[in-house]
Amino acid sequence: MESEIEAVRRSLLTGRIVAFTGAGISAESNVPTFRGAGGLWRNYSPERLATPEAFSSDPRLVWEWYDWRRGIVRAAQPNPGHLALSELQRRTPERFTLVTQNTDGLHERAGSQDVVKLHGDIWLLQCTRCGREERNEQVPLNLLPPLCRCGGIQRPGVVWFGEMLPEDQWERARRAARTAEVFIAIGTSAVVHPAAGLVLVARLTGARVVIMNPDPTPVDDLAEWILRGPAGEILPRLI
Ligand code: NAD
Repeated sequence: MESEIEAVRRSLLTGRIVAFTGAGISAESNVPTFRGAGGLWRNYSPERLATPEAFSSDPRLVWEWYDWRRGIVRAAQPNPGHLALSELQRRTPERFTLVTQNTDGLHERAGSQDVVKLHGDIWLLQCTRCGREERNEQVPLNLLPPLCRCGGIQRPGVVWFGEMLPEDQWERARRAARTAEVFIAIGTSAVVHPAAGLVLVARLTGARVVIMNPDPTPVDDLAEWILRGPAGEILPRLI
């Protein structure tokens, strides 16, 4: 893999770079991915809980799961993969964009700036009645489901399966993908759409695609380089 790493390192020296991250980049910070080991909670799969339907039928159950995940994220620290991306941005500020599907805030805690957040933020609470948003980092929450000051039930400020992405973030991500010369997809199973479609957008508009993942993904065919292994080990070697 040394020669691929060297080739990717060279490709980062000029041109626009997009790093596109998924849950895998936080795996080495002990935040469970959705599909890997540790993804299940009380035998529920995340695909069953992270949906508007699950929330309307049992908001307390969904909140118990998020409360558990918030506790894990609170205890987690950014790992060398997050830190390497923040360092890459520091060195290439004019030509670097970080797009994440993660809601855990670990990129920001590692020092990354202007992160494009496609799936929201686990520390945001959003009222289902009046729409008011607030930041709340309390773990555990003292009432499940939490209530807004208007009395409405609050939901987590994240994007669930079947929901639209925030339009401004999606536009920024698409623009970055279309103008990227190197597009590095890190730790994503690339099955959650529309986010996963960014890899194809980047490829079709001329980017050289890099996939970094210990396992195969459905977009491997689009890659010029595949770096098989954990992001926390490979990313620091690229920088
Ligand atoms: P996913 O769970 O579907 O896939 C994770 C991917 O990471 C897998 O392909 C796996 O092989 C890979 N991986 C595991 N360990 C890795 C490592 N050390 N280095 C690099 N790759 C590694 O996650 P996804 O593709 O992000 O999609 C799931 C959705 O769930 C996301 O859109 C996100 O919103 C949400 N999610 C977020 C978090 C978080 O914020 N940390 C965690 C779980 C899920």
